[in-house]
This record gives sequence, structure tokens and C-alpha cells, in this order.
Amino acid sequence: MRILTVLIFLLITTSSFAVTFDGKFIQGSFIIGKTNPGSNVFIDKKKVKVTSEGFFVFGLARDRNNDVVIKINETKIIKKVQKRKYNIQRIDGLEEKKVTPPEEVYERIKRENKWIGEARSIDSDLIFFTKKFQIPIENAIITGVYGSQRILNGKPKWPHYGLDFAAEEGTKIRAMLDGTVTLAEPDLFYTGGTLIFDHGHGISTLYMHMKKILVKKGQKVKQGDIIGTVGKTGRATGAHLDVRLNWFQTRLDPATALDIK
Ligand SMILES: [Zn+2]
Repeated sequence: MRILTVLIFLLITTSSFAVTFDGKFIQGSFIIGKTNPGSNVFIDKKKVKVTSEGFFVFGLARDRNNDVVIKINETKIIKKVQKRKYNIQRIDGLEEKKVTPPEEVYERIKRENKWIGEARSIDSDLIFFTKKFQIPIENAIITGVYGSQRILNGKPKWPHYGLDFAAEEGTKIRAMLDGTVTLAEPDLFYTGGTLIFDHGHGISTLYMHMKKILVKKGQKVKQGDIIGTVGKTGRATGAHLDVRLNWFQTRLDPATALDIK
């Protein structure tokens, strides 16, 4: 009887924990975890939602160096983060007004950044993030990658956190994933025609520099639906689509979700 009790106890304790990860522990990475439904999951002390099937999601920042601490119930898992090399470009001798935006637009930029930040902080129960992402434009050439940075006149600029697809103006853009529109703005200072989608658990995607926006805030969109067209609105040098992926305020590499090498 006692042996049986011990066996049952062992069975319960050993079967109570299991976890798998889909995604690499590399800077900028999008990672989906799967564990037992009902588990309590913490990523670096931040409690994250777990779906009824046991899925949870998180991501690693561009410059993340320290290990990731994942706590599932009472079990702690520590993962090293692999570093990446980013493309750094120095350009000197530029006219100063091309390096810094004019003062009269500061308030506008601040206001628009607040809207974007709010859309990115949504922590909904949607579970669309568990589905595979799809390319937003077929046959487009990737002209800009995540993490690259320009140093203009010695001033390091904001790193590029998106993935750029060069395409002709008016090219149809398809939703990479099912989601709900949380921001639809035709003319933001930096990003021009901008869409943000919520995919659940803090995962959001952004589409920028759009010419036409064909969806409205609050609208539910299916993967592959046409959401607008390619443009060069906002601060864009030419027609292209720039897409972004976030886990709350952490900017991730969209290529890691799209499986682009
Ligand atoms: Zn870009």
C-alpha cells in the first residue's frame, strides 16, 4: 500500500511538469512556450497568461544580454541568450535638420508615441499568436532588417526594429495573422499610414508607411485578409512596407516569427 502511494506520488510530481519552447533563445526572438494548462508562468518575474491548452509567449529584446529566468509553478529554468551582430552604418557631414526633427513637431511625436505605446500594452486573452505567421507581401524583396542602426553626424539614431519589404506603391498588404485592429491612423509623423493589431497575450504587429488603410479600429481580421496598400507615407524614403512585432514594449524581430533567415 505504501509503495503504491509512493508510486502515485512520483507519478503526480513527475508528470506535473513539462515545457517545450518553439523559438531560439537569441536576441530579438519571438518564443512560444507550452506547458501544462493551469500552470503559473513567470518570465523574468513578469507573470504571463497561459492559454487553456498551455501556450504562453514572450520575446527577447535587441540588446538582451542577461539570461532569461522562466518560472513554471515551482520550477525555475534559466536560458542563455545568444548574441547577434547588427549592421551599424556611420554617415557624417549631413545637414543638421535632416538628423533631428524640427522642434514644432515634438508635441505631435510625443502624442503619437503615446497612442502606439497604449496599443502595445494591451494584454488580451486572444490566442492568435499560437498560429504560424504569414508573409504580408508575396514576392517582395527585403530591403531592411531588424536591429540595424545608423549613426548620423556622430549621433546614434534609433535602431531599425522592423522588417522592410520593398514593393510598388499600391501593392496589396495581407494580415500576417488573425487579430483585432487596435490602432488605425492615416498620417503619423514617423510611420505615416499605420495599423496595429492585437494577437493576444501582449503580442502586437505594426504596419507602417501605408498608402490606403482598408480596416477600422476594433475590426477583427483574418490572416491573409487585405488590410491596405503599400505607400511611402510618414518619414519614408521610398515605397515600402515596414512591419514590426512586439511583446508588450519589447520590440522583436518579425523575421523570427515569419521564419525568414
Ligand atoms: Zn523600415
